[in-house]
Amino acid sequence: MEKTDIIIVGGGIAGLSTAYELTRRRPGASIIVLESGTRAGEGASWANGSMVHPSQATPWAESGCENAAGIARETYRLAARSCVLIAQNMDAFGIEPRHRRQGCAKIYQSRAAMDADMERLLNLVSEGLRIEVLPRAQILKRLSIADVQIPIKGGVIFPDDHTGPPRYYCAALLEKLRDAGVKVRVNAKVSSAAGAGRVTLQTGEILQAETVVLCAGAGLADLPGNPVIKPVRGYSRTFDVPSEFLPNMAIMDDTAHISVTPLGDHLRVSGGADIDTDAGIYDRLETYALALLAPIKDRLRAAPKSDWTAQRPMSDCGPVIARLAPGLFANTGHGHMGWTLSAGAAEAAADLILRG
Ligand SMILES: Cc1cc2nc3c(=O)[nH]c(=O)nc-3n(C[C@H](O)[C@H](O)[C@H](O)COP(=O)(O)OP(=O)(O)OC[C@H]3O[C@@H](n4cnc5c(N)ncnc54)[C@H](O)[C@@H]3O)c2cc1C
Repeated sequence: MEKTDIIIVGGGIAGLSTAYELTRRRPGASIIVLESGTRAGEGASWANGSMVHPSQATPWAESGCENAAGIARETYRLAARSCVLIAQNMDAFGIEPRHRRQGCAKIYQSRAAMDADMERLLNLVSEGLRIEVLPRAQILKRLSIADVQIPIKGGVIFPDDHTGPPRYYCAALLEKLRDAGVKVRVNAKVSSAAGAGRVTLQTGEILQAETVVLCAGAGLADLPGNPVIKPVRGYSRTFDVPSEFLPNMAIMDDTAHISVTPLGDHLRVSGGADIDTDAGIYDRLETYALALLAPIKDRLRAAPKSDWTAQRPMSDCGPVIARLAPGLFANTGHGHMGWTLSAGAAEAAADLILRG
C-alpha cells in the first residue's frame, strides 16, 4: 500500500485551505485530498452568502454552551486573523476587485433586537471589533438604498468585514494545490477514518497516511466516531444584475435572517437557518429582496436567477480544530462562518498538525 504523508478528507473550503497551508508549511510532503463529490469546492462553499464577517462570531448553540461569551471572543480572534489572510490571498490569487466589497452591515427591525445584538457585539468590541451604530436614515444613506419596504429601526456597519466569492477562491486554491503536487481525488467517499492514519473508502480501498485531517463539513455527521457535527441547511438565490444597481455592501437582516450580498454583477440573497425546510424558501428570499431593494424590484423580477442549497457544518460550541487521536485531526464545525474562518482555521490546524 502506497503511504502518503497527509490525507485531507473533504475538498470544501476547509479542506482546500488546510491542504494549501500545509503545502506552504511542509513543502515536499505528499498530500492527498479525498472528495466524495464529482468536483472539489462544490459543497457548502459554492454559493453561500460570501461574507467574511468576523463580526458574526458567536457559538451556534449559545444557550447550550458554557462560557458562550468566551467562545465568541475566541472565535472572533481567529476570524479577525482569517479575514486579513483571506484578503491577502484574494489579492495574491488575482480575484478582481469588482467581485469584492469592503464592509458589511446589519439592519434591525426592532429596537429590542438591536439592543440584544448590541450586547453580543460589545463583547467582541473588547477584542477589537469596530462598529458604527446608526439610526435608520443614516444606515439607509450609507448603504445607498431608498424606498425600503421593511420596518428598519437602525443598523450597524462593520467596516473591517468584507465580501468576495468563495467559489473563485476555491478554484484558485485548487490550482495552487495542483501546482504544489497535491493530488485531489474526486468520487472518493470516505466511509471511516478511525485514527492511526487509516482511511477506508466506500469502495473498500484502504489508504494509509502519517496524518489524516477531517474536513468533510456536514458529511462528518455520517462518519462514525467523529466530531459531533449538526448539519443545518441554508439556501440562496442569485440574480444577475449589473453592479451599479446593487447596494454598496452586504446587508444582513437580523430579524428576517436573510442577507443580500453584491458580488460583481450578481446579487446573492441567502437564507438563515430558522427558515429551514420551508418549501417556498426561494420565493421568500426573492420577496425579501424586492422589499429591501424596491427601486430595482422590476429588474430583480426579470433577472436570470439561480437557486442553490447546502448544509452548514454546525457544532454547538464553536469550531472544532483539534487532535482527535494519534495521527487524526479535525478542522470543521465552522457553521455559519466557514468562509470567514477558512484561512485562519487552516493556519491553526496546521500549527496543531505540525506539532504532532
Ligand atoms: C446559505 C448559506 C450561506 C452561508 N453564508 C456564509 C457567509 O456569508 N460567510 C461565511 O463565512 N460562511 C457562510 N456559510 C457557511 C459556509 O458556507 C460553510 O461553513 C463552509 O462552506 C463549510 O466549509 P467546509 O469545507 O467545512 O464544508 P463543505 O464546503 O461542505 O465541504 C465539505 C466537502 O467534503 C465532502 N465530503 C463530505 N463527506 C465526505 C466523505 N465522507 N468523504 C469525502 N468527502 C466528503 C463534501 O462533498 C464537500 O465537498 C453559509 C452557508 C450556507 C449554507
